[in-house]
Amino acid sequence: MTDAIKTLPKQGFDAQTILNTMQELRGEDASWSEGKCWALVYSAGEEVTDVLRQAFTMFLTENALNPTAFPSLKQMETEVVAMTGHLLGGDAETTGSMTTGGTESILMAMKTAKMWAKKHKRWVRTPEVVLPASAHPAFEKAAYYFGIKTVYAPLSDDYRVDFKRMKKLVNRNTIMLVGSAPAYPQGVVDPIGDIAALAKKKGILCHVDACIGGFVLPFAKQLGYDIPSWDFSVPGVTSMSVDLHKYAYAAKPASVVVYKNAELRKHQFFAFTEWTGGIYASPTMTGSRSGGAIAAAWAVLNFIGHEGYMDIVRRVMNVRDELVDALKTIPEIDIHGIPDGSMVGIGSSVVDIFEVGDNLSEKGWHFDRQQEPVSIHLTVNLAHEGKVEEFIQDLKDAIAPCARISKSDRLKEKIMYGVMDAACTILPTAVVSKATAVASKAMGIGDGELPKKSAAMYGMMAKLPNRGDVHHLVIDALDKLLSYDSTKEIKMITPTTDESIEDRVITFPTKKAKS
Ligand SMILES: *Cc1c(COP(=O)(O)O)cnc(C)c1O
Repeated sequence: MTDAIKTLPKQGFDAQTILNTMQELRGEDASWSEGKCWALVYSAGEEVTDVLRQAFTMFLTENALNPTAFPSLKQMETEVVAMTGHLLGGDAETTGSMTTGGTESILMAMKTAKMWAKKHKRWVRTPEVVLPASAHPAFEKAAYYFGIKTVYAPLSDDYRVDFKRMKKLVNRNTIMLVGSAPAYPQGVVDPIGDIAALAKKKGILCHVDACIGGFVLPFAKQLGYDIPSWDFSVPGVTSMSVDLHKYAYAAKPASVVVYKNAELRKHQFFAFTEWTGGIYASPTMTGSRSGGAIAAAWAVLNFIGHEGYMDIVRRVMNVRDELVDALKTIPEIDIHGIPDGSMVGIGSSVVDIFEVGDNLSEKGWHFDRQQEPVSIHLTVNLAHEGKVEEFIQDLKDAIAPCARISKSDRLKEKIMYGVMDAACTILPTAVVSKATAVASKAMGIGDGELPKKSAAMYGMMAKLPNRGDVHHLVIDALDKLLSYDSTKEIKMITPTTDESIEDRVITFPTKKAKS
């Protein structure tokens, strides 16, 4: 793999060949438009996609780095931020920025907190942020990048953060508290009222991560769903992250970070006044910014509108309710928590849920696998309308062949785990690392191939006592996964029919090209 080199074609290919090739290529991708994908993709249908495509292409070339060159983009961005802020209970003071995604929005909120603390909490050497164990890894990423210490609070039995224990973790170095609305793993909203009140009392910031809930919960609440308060209407909330490329159905990459006021947002901005290229200022992480993503976001918010989102959320929540009700009838399945949002985490105390997952994957379903507790994650979207029955049947069929885990098996596993833990404390790290390396090689990770069966891989990962080894393994696997593989080189396919490629590209989303 590493010895193979890919070069530019000596002469360019014609557009027809290239588009045709890409069209064939995507036949292997997750078939989200068939409703078998419980993650990654959000679509509000062909009509909305068409508006996105046109808006995005209209501003394909423009760059939002400089707001004075393209006042159109500046106005669209500020309108997107304002509309989002208003939806989240903000007022005329609420302000923010568009970013490339939830991760960048969270990076910016964390950076803002650090700079704010530098001014208002001068005694703090290493700033600390207290957050739920279920908070998105983007907070950890931000902490890693910006030199902030993360302090994780455990979850309660209902999978919301255990507020009493969270409270005990706050000290004089704490600069911000975090809650999710909802948290991704189980779809439950943290006790934002308590968290924000504590932040207010301590005179620190409070960020609510509504990346996945920002365009669902406000409408669900209006539809009568019982959702605890979580937005700017809660005193103490100072910033929020909301992804537009999830349930607002914008084109990726698009998200918003919103602040209670402009004073806070200033801490997010970056300026370098000494560059030989001139005075440089930039609002977010990236330099050049996609005009297309801003234009598409503005277009979609205006195209769907409040009533349109109400209608979509009603349909999505109906599917979630249908799914939850059906899952409840399967004795082997446990639903983790009572989801407030549009996602569900399911596990089992009777069968190995990852084995069930592997069987489901073989039937073409795509979803995330989670840990602590081990579970399968289902994010509901519009493509799942009318698909619940098929999924439930496939789930039952996936469970049937799985071995039942007996009480004695579980006890054995517990003892095994205990032994490994003990071995880890008495054996030198080198020995444990070596054992891990041998185990991972046996799993195929060392040879650049991720194990086919996730049950086996996750089973091993979950049980490895040395988390440092797991980290190493994952980074190694990612490196292999993202390396150029000459055996999979894309071969150009010249179109054979006289069918216009233009037409075929426009019939996006396609079904599997091969079928
Ligand atoms: C998706 C998500 C994020 C991260 O968003 P990206 O767009 O993937 O960077 C953060 N928090 C929550 C709760 C999310 O669901």
